[in-house]
Amino acid sequence: MRVCRQCQSEMIEGFNLRVKGAAYGIKIAKGTGIFADRIEEEPKVAICTKCGEISLYIEDIDKIREN
Ligand SMILES: [Zn+2]
Repeated sequence: MRVCRQCQSEMIEGFNLRVKGAAYGIKIAKGTGIFADRIEEEPKVAICTKCGEISLYIEDIDKIREN
């Protein structure tokens, strides 16, 4: 369970992040260019229904720690 950092309410998790007008999502990378250390997991979004705060998170963080 994720808790809103603004109002400490429970957040709804599992939303997908999509760029408006585009069919692809957002990828996260460290560094730039062809040597960038890419994270293949797509970030997920959690939403606070009380104050509207959104929070980005990576679902499978263990996989990233291993790299
Ligand atoms: Zn909130």
